[in-house]
Amino acid sequence: MTSGLAALEARLADELEFLQLPAPRWTPALEREGQPVVDVAIIGAGMTGLAAAAALVQRGLSVVAYDEAPAGLEGPWATTARMETLRSPKQLAGPALGIPSLTFRAWFEAQFGRAEWEALDKIPRLQWMDYLRWYREVLRLPVLNGHRITDIEPRADGLVVLRLETEGHAMRAWARRVVVATGRAGLGGPALPAFAEALPRSRWAHSSDDNDYAALAGLRVGIVGAGASAMDSAATALEAGAAQVHLLVRRADLPRVNKGKGAGNPGFVVGYARLSDDWKWRIRHYINTQQVPPPRNSTQRVSRHANAHFHLGVAIESVSERRGALEVRTSAGPIELDFLIFATGFKVDWRQRPMLRHIAPCIRVWKDRYAPPAGDDDAELAESPDLGPAFEFQPRAGADCPGLDRIHCLSYPATLSLGVITGDIPAISEGALQLTDRLAALLYAEDIEHHFARMAAYAEPEILGDEWVAEPLPPPPSSPSSR
Ligand SMILES: Cc1cc2nc3c(=O)[nH]c(=O)nc-3n(C[C@H](O)[C@H](O)[C@H](O)COP(=O)(O)OP(=O)(O)OC[C@H]3O[C@@H](n4cnc5c(N)ncnc54)[C@H](O)[C@@H]3O)c2cc1C
Repeated sequence: MTSGLAALEARLADELEFLQLPAPRWTPALEREGQPVVDVAIIGAGMTGLAAAAALVQRGLSVVAYDEAPAGLEGPWATTARMETLRSPKQLAGPALGIPSLTFRAWFEAQFGRAEWEALDKIPRLQWMDYLRWYREVLRLPVLNGHRITDIEPRADGLVVLRLETEGHAMRAWARRVVVATGRAGLGGPALPAFAEALPRSRWAHSSDDNDYAALAGLRVGIVGAGASAMDSAATALEAGAAQVHLLVRRADLPRVNKGKGAGNPGFVVGYARLSDDWKWRIRHYINTQQVPPPRNSTQRVSRHANAHFHLGVAIESVSERRGALEVRTSAGPIELDFLIFATGFKVDWRQRPMLRHIAPCIRVWKDRYAPPAGDDDAELAESPDLGPAFEFQPRAGADCPGLDRIHCLSYPATLSLGVITGDIPAISEGALQLTDRLAALLYAEDIEHHFARMAAYAEPEILGDEWVAEPLPPPPSSPSSR
């Protein structure tokens, strides 16, 4: 009898077999220039890319997921994230696609047992990455690491050309459909205040940068923002020996309630995408303005240090470098610091994503089509892509970009169009499964001639003709008058 992970993997193999997964490949095999054309290429093999790849493979489609990161270091978890544990509750099914043995819980209990599971508070960050590595391995997902997509060229002939770089070589690949699963900053990058860009780069970092926190030892560090990443950056700086850490928070108070979490229910997950534009904007704008509080444990990880200082109601007005320090002028007076960390989130900014340069001018964003009610302006929402029902980019009025609708977006900026299925743990399976169904349907319809011809050519008999003997009808009964 096997135990631990081996037993779980045997159980998973049974479950997949019982569910007849994965389905056999059913789409036609195509080639271009001697290379196979995949049905779907995914850009990004973080949690979202993996979940999408798994769902697409299960549906019998040919898939490849490219990631520029080395294997096992995709996404923020083991690279730029600095929290001790995930924010998400441990019991969420995450990318399990409805299969119990694929959940984090199954993976955890298989190794550490039920009692340890009961004792676990939240999932340690690096353990979550270990789980994602196992998920990829156990499902044998088709991921190519060290492959950076540098350009996406949709074409009128039903194919998309991807240009990529790997080990210093440039190459091309072909796909019928492309999924952009590039994460939180997936269509842009850090959102920075204008004054940051005027400062010497040695004086500041964004919270998502691969910053050397050890170099902050002995320094006075300012953290701009008060969300989860602000707390994680502050705590990391303090633990690295920063002399002082000052959190500079524009708001007079920290948000206390995570409204997005309160909205979570199956209706919100599956029904949001069909809401009217007005409701979508209203919901997302409300969540944006209410803001998401930092997790309690992350905040306490900062406040337990005597040299951590929370300054609320302090808006930065300007920053300049003077006499070897940063002179920061704020609405509450000046403060002198050595280094600033901007925990100011991300924004859609096509210039920060060179791979999108061909298609960015064609892509319709919400502000091209929708005007919010007076007072509800929201720069983040205005720049969000206005996606179609198959998560596809749609052309701006007048844009000439054949094949743009072959590029599908499953990353955070899609949230205004699609809801919470675009990359966070709670609903990532829904996102992957919904996208997969839409793509399978599109590919089927595109190839309908081929599928009809296959049906017509199909000739496997189910009965052989020797199962019965044909007889003439019995003679009709004689009529009473003829008796
Ligand atoms: C610090 C932090 C903590 C978070 N904590 C939680 C949490 O507790 N719970 C929760 O639900 N959500 C959390 N999130 C939000 C979300 O779940 C994560 O951002 C998650 O990583 C999203 O997965 P993803 O696959 O969409 O993106 P990512 O994990 O970011 O993966 C995107 C991948 O795309 C690759 N890529 C990008 N561009 C290219 C290119 N041109 N070519 C090839 N590859 C490319 C990158 O290398 C990367 O591996 C957190 C986010 C952050 C940043």
